[in-house]
Amino acid sequence: MADGTELQAERKRGTIHAGGEWHEASSGGTREILDPADARPFAVVSEGDEKDADLAVAAARRAFDEGGWPHTPVAERAALLRRVAGLLVRDREKLGLLESRDAGKTVEEGRVDIDCVADAFRYFADLVAAEAPGRVVDAGSPDVHSVVVHEPVGVCAMITPWNYPLLQASWKIAPALAAGNTFVIKPSEITPLTTVALIDLLIEAGLPAGVANIVTGPGHTVGARLAEHPDVDLVSFTGGLASGTKVARAAAVTVKKVALELGGKNPNVVFADACATEEGFDTAVDQALNAAFIHSGQVCSAGSRLIVEEPVRERFVAELARRAERIRLGRGTEDGVECGPLVSEQQRAKTEEYVASALAEGAVLRCGGRRPEPSPQRPQSGYFYEPTVLDHCHRGMRVVREEVFGPVLTVETFRTEDEAVALANDTEYGLAGAVWTADAGRARRVAGRLRHGTVWINDFHPYLPQAEWGGFGKSGTGRELGPAGLAEYRETKHVYQNLAPKPVRWFAG
Ligand code: NAD
Repeated sequence: MADGTELQAERKRGTIHAGGEWHEASSGGTREILDPADARPFAVVSEGDEKDADLAVAAARRAFDEGGWPHTPVAERAALLRRVAGLLVRDREKLGLLESRDAGKTVEEGRVDIDCVADAFRYFADLVAAEAPGRVVDAGSPDVHSVVVHEPVGVCAMITPWNYPLLQASWKIAPALAAGNTFVIKPSEITPLTTVALIDLLIEAGLPAGVANIVTGPGHTVGARLAEHPDVDLVSFTGGLASGTKVARAAAVTVKKVALELGGKNPNVVFADACATEEGFDTAVDQALNAAFIHSGQVCSAGSRLIVEEPVRERFVAELARRAERIRLGRGTEDGVECGPLVSEQQRAKTEEYVASALAEGAVLRCGGRRPEPSPQRPQSGYFYEPTVLDHCHRGMRVVREEVFGPVLTVETFRTEDEAVALANDTEYGLAGAVWTADAGRARRVAGRLRHGTVWINDFHPYLPQAEWGGFGKSGTGRELGPAGLAEYRETKHVYQNLAPKPVRWFAG
């Protein structure tokens, strides 16, 4: 699958999968998928709507209520997840390339994504396989056997974003299947291709028909229908705050379980002592660059707010800007390219608007702030934007408060530890943040005070499948990954068995 032509040839059957069959959209609608590096269509998918969502939910409902998957022994479910991980490894090159074309990231980033997807499947396989089947509770009587067990929730709706299309999908699909659920997934309408490909791998691995369903199509039709659907038991959403709020509201009407993984405005706090040695300075600058600009800043946990101690600010920002200017922008499939385009014209326009508003509000441009000159690796028609560093920023600016989701780093400064913590927590979000310091005591103190779901000390961005991921505040509810990421997909049931039943005689008559 070197390009979309091959994908289209494979996909004569449509990209909607319900009840074990691939379909075109019931309306016959289709959508072209654009390569963000040149804005040219390279694949076509079915454009589903509410009717397709209803058909997929019905298939998932039947598979849950009448099929064998929820009752399949845990060892078999775990074995299937491991087979999926093996197929992902087999198709790593093909899927990594597809993710790169679809989302605009470099091929190497695409490959790393696929490795992480395989890790998620392996992790949840191992987690369920190692679990005890239930927790026996002491009921205080030898005549009672009391046990707490976990059961699948039922039909899960999953709605995913465009920045890490398959990775975000896998954080939902792997635990949902491990727990014995059936699901309908709606990938982002602009990057659906690898999620479609994953459904094929699930089928190849032996998943029964109707357990895995996908509807490609827009959020306001397919996504909204899934969120409100009376036959859906849980909705797990990853995306922006505005859409997440709508999903939560729609889901509330039928009292679904809801998990929301939303945005972030993530602080990267650098104390001067972290930069006391040349090596320490170089590491902190290098990681600040990576935190802000990997995947053109289109990362929910991007370190988009640099909060640096005043005495090192000038040197730190000068070096950061110098290196940001040298980031090699281009088509993600080209050799030597370090950073791809933004995913869409809309995303670039939003970025440009934020930079303009910051400059109008008094920010100082240290680098970037414009579209790069076109080159053979960077067609004029691609959605490229230069890595941008905005100095002298403050909380009064929209660019500091709101998620840009582009290659824009704002710089704020502090003089005391308390001030650093106050700035880092001064956000309605709370997804992730980092603290850089050579003082171990300060590191632990500050990490303990940060109101964010993940805190890195002297690092930025690593996550572990075995550690929970999610946000405080408006970054969401619930957690993905780790044991809590499995628990999201389960109901808890207490089974109380009286081994010697007798009348209660509460009522005399
Ligand atoms: P988005 O909210 O625009 O879209 C996300 C998904 O929701 C898409 O599939 C979209 O079609 C669907 N959608 C849109 N409106 C909907 C509605 N009314 N009902 C149901 N579904 C609807 O987000 P995006 O632009 O695709 O992704 C970027 C956002 O995702 C950023 O805010 C980023 O921080 C967030 N994100 C968060 C995490 C995390 O782990 N917390 C991870 C990745 C991305």
